[in-house]
Amino acid sequence: MRYVWLDEYLLGKAGVTKDFKEEWNWIRYQIGGKMFAALCLGDDDKPYYITLKLEPSEGDFLRQQYEDIVPGYYMNKVHWNSVRPDGEVPDDLLKDLLDKSYQLVLKGLSKKKQKEIMEENMAKSSVYFTSFKATGQENLLQKLHRLMKTAGFETIDFKEKYAAIKIHFGEYGNLAFLRPNYARVVADYVKELGGKPFLTDCNTLYVGSRKNALDHLETAYVNGFSPYQTGCHVIIGDGLKGTDEAIVPIDGEYVKEAKIGQAIMDADILISLTHFKGHEMAGFGGALKNLGMGSGSRAGKMEQHCDGKPSVNQAACVGCGACQKICAHEAPEIADGKAAINHDKCVGCGRCLAVCPKDAIAADFHDSIAVLNCKIAEYSYAVCKGRPCFHISLICDVSPNCDCHAENDIPIIPDVGMLASFDPVALDQACADLCNQMPPIAHSVLDENIKEHQEEGEHDHFHMTHPDTEWKSCIAHAVKIGLGTNEYELVQI
Ligand code: SF4
Ligand code: SF4
Repeated sequence: MRYVWLDEYLLGKAGVTKDFKEEWNWIRYQIGGKMFAALCLGDDDKPYYITLKLEPSEGDFLRQQYEDIVPGYYMNKVHWNSVRPDGEVPDDLLKDLLDKSYQLVLKGLSKKKQKEIMEENMAKSSVYFTSFKATGQENLLQKLHRLMKTAGFETIDFKEKYAAIKIHFGEYGNLAFLRPNYARVVADYVKELGGKPFLTDCNTLYVGSRKNALDHLETAYVNGFSPYQTGCHVIIGDGLKGTDEAIVPIDGEYVKEAKIGQAIMDADILISLTHFKGHEMAGFGGALKNLGMGSGSRAGKMEQHCDGKPSVNQAACVGCGACQKICAHEAPEIADGKAAINHDKCVGCGRCLAVCPKDAIAADFHDSIAVLNCKIAEYSYAVCKGRPCFHISLICDVSPNCDCHAENDIPIIPDVGMLASFDPVALDQACADLCNQMPPIAHSVLDENIKEHQEEGEHDHFHMTHPDTEWKSCIAHAVKIGLGTNEYELVQI
């Protein structure tokens, strides 16, 4: 059988047990006592079929695409499918199908049973940490390399693989973004291990210096992320106008199909390199924000911020009709020299935002913060699923706002350190916990808000900095959908 990883992969899932059903000659993999996958053995005891459950429409579609996927062997032919163990179905696809089968059967269990399984199997993730203290023997760049090595970076097979390093290049005028020197450490390390790294981010929804690939590249270079400095190229993930996207089906609670920058999804391996700081909508900008919102195409970002449909600021509109021309759905309607978007026709593709010469079209930011956070978690899941990922966050220059701002106010807390983990959820939780142990910096927004609210005791620094935000719903939802855990062990190196 070509899928030698199958047994280990299935047993690695929460709550999975296996047994051998002698009468059928099947190895069955079960969750909560219900089978979700089986390795059916032939008369010679060699693998004959791998059987799994799918939504009927997906099963039907895949059977038409792959000769090696057939209706379930000795199972209900509508819901079950069998995969030939030496056929042409790619490993990544089979893993994805097994994940779906697991989720389908898990969702069919009682809520109580699901909770029991998840709680029993909530293992702690390791998050590796080092401070910004440095000596003549080891500078910060060498320290970052050691942190990554200790955290298991070399366990990823990089040979001949494309590795996307997801980073924020900083808006022009902002000075809090991560120094390109850190990106170089990561890129060089990927190359050392035989991989092909590139730095990437997607275009912004709003007006600024990164709203299309040309401006974005220019800003990245001006901010120091040139190939001469970082040792690798920059590829803007969602193309010239933010419309080059991959549709990633995830069937989440809030997002059915995530719209992710194509170049980011094309990479074999994903590394997030995050500047951990405050954020005016999400509370803080950590790994999940970098991955989920940051990897969304223009339509993906709109979907996370709102129901995906933009509106026109009529005062700015000059009635040029560019939005009408680009729209495939006849949604922009012009009357009396002003455009308005008919939301019954609009599908939220975001193309009109890119062409408006007056920047009169903008997304409606009306979803609640909690929903925004849950969507960020689901987008992060879409970006990470099915491929090796590694996450690094540096807690330095903790500005109150995102690096999307064209300015950066004084930091709210002192620099903390560098962290790395395979689990982006545990990483964000660890970063938030470490930040909350720090004293506020005098005269920062945090310090001023603490004084204004006369709170000297326990409080959350990020909530205190932006009282309309809360970040915990993002972490809680990420845990719920299986992206990671907020239980972690902090390993000091
Ligand atoms: S492209 Fe912009 S300025 Fe032109 S009609 Fe549409 S909204 Fe108005
Ligand atoms: S978002 Fe897309 S569908 Fe909606 S009005 Fe703009 S171009 Fe048309």
